[in-house]
Amino acid sequence: MDLDYRLMQELVKVNLELQKLDEGYRKKYFRKNTNKPWSFKCYQCEEKVSSNEADEFWTVPVTRYDSNVRVRRFCSKDCSDCYFNEQRNELLGKRDQIIEDRRLLRSFYEEAEQKFKEVVAERHK
Ligand SMILES: [Zn+2]
Repeated sequence: MDLDYRLMQELVKVNLELQKLDEGYRKKYFRKNTNKPWSFKCYQCEEKVSSNEADEFWTVPVTRYDSNVRVRRFCSKDCSDCYFNEQRNELLGKRDQIIEDRRLLRSFYEEAEQKFKEVVAERHK
């Protein structure tokens, strides 16, 4: 059952992504002792957030493997929660799909096993 093994590996990957997402969600504080203020655009609402105006910001890790960006930055907890929940639901959906696929594969396998037994039994008659 190579296919099932592959699905199992995918499941492990999705679970790791979920863990990474949960553990990497952070509230951060701007460093105030630098001469050069820095800023970013909130990934959710696209508001500009600058270190000489705001004290804190939020980051959520990017779990997708095809992305070079490691974290997304946000202006507020509302914005980061929104993105975090989106990512989380997407991963949970992926996980449910894999579990469902494994169940489907299992039922096909049982069917095939049953047919195989019938053929072998027929041979010995
Ligand atoms: Zn925002």
